Amino acid sequence: MNTDTTIDENAALMGEAVDKEANIEDELHELESEDTETVGKPLLSPEKSRMTSRNVFVYYGDKMAIDNISLDIGKNEVLSMIGPSGCGKSTFLRCLNRMNDTIDICRVDGEIKLDKQDIYDPKLDVVPLRARVGMVFQKPNPFPKSIYDNIAYGPRIHGMVDNKSETDEVVETSLQRAGLWDEVKDRLDAPGTGLSGGQQQRLCIARAIAVNPEVILMDEPCSALDPIATAKIEELIDELREEFTIAIVTHSMQQAARVSQRTAYFHLGKLIEVGKTDKIFTNPEHKLTEDYITGRFG
Ligand code: ADP
Repeated sequence: MNTDTTIDENAALMGEAVDKEANIEDELHELESEDTETVGKPLLSPEKSRMTSRNVFVYYGDKMAIDNISLDIGKNEVLSMIGPSGCGKSTFLRCLNRMNDTIDICRVDGEIKLDKQDIYDPKLDVVPLRARVGMVFQKPNPFPKSIYDNIAYGPRIHGMVDNKSETDEVVETSLQRAGLWDEVKDRLDAPGTGLSGGQQQRLCIARAIAVNPEVILMDEPCSALDPIATAKIEELIDELREEFTIAIVTHSMQQAARVSQRTAYFHLGKLIEVGKTDKIFTNPEHKLTEDYITGRFG
């Protein structure tokens, strides 16, 4: 064995290893120092926007989950929020109707307005706010009540109906708008929890609609559904856009492409890019967005 060669080889290998390490560090440095100022068009004109967020930070205890996000959601638009798991999509969505208030360690800084009203105003009552900004969750969560009462509950507690015929009307209209009326009109007294998953999710959408919201937030509303039920919900989202502002968190890029007009890409708590959905998916401006949509990570 030629010891010198071995030493040389080892030195070469060591050198290469050291070089590799240096490269990795360079890459890390590049990623950390990569420009994470939001690119695209996160803000809309005052006439077009329904909800506006400015310099929003969210912390869970000491940990920052949302890092200085400013983003508007427009009237009659569906905005998709996409990005790798843990990047803060749900956290941001839940800020929009103060759902994060229910988590003790969660703190929200910054300004979020619904039609010029500061929703974090300490004097604001969150119950009517959550009617104006309704929410549909990942797993359909009907109340353990009849189909009828699932829909009637909100209008009753918000004092929107005075008698049975008014309640009947709201129940029917809401179920119709959610595309569920024909399937359930003959069994309104049956429990909501007895419906199929897709029907339960449409029931939850009807429940949100029943209290006349302005905005509907959807947190991965199809992730527990089969493709046929998913297609129905996606069609419904498109119809609902005529009346409501919709923000949807989705882990499916295909879904974002199908249902939304604008898409916001989140990465490690930051808003990286916002733009028209077709542009985000075909010609993103930011390298991090491009890496995500081409499947390089996430
Ligand atoms: P996404 O919806 O993009 O998957 P989340 O908003 O759920 O991301 O999470 C963003 C970050 O906040 C993650 O690091 C997550 O671990 C953290 N987080 C979310 N909810 C809580 C919570 N209730 N308590 C503590 N940390 C949380």
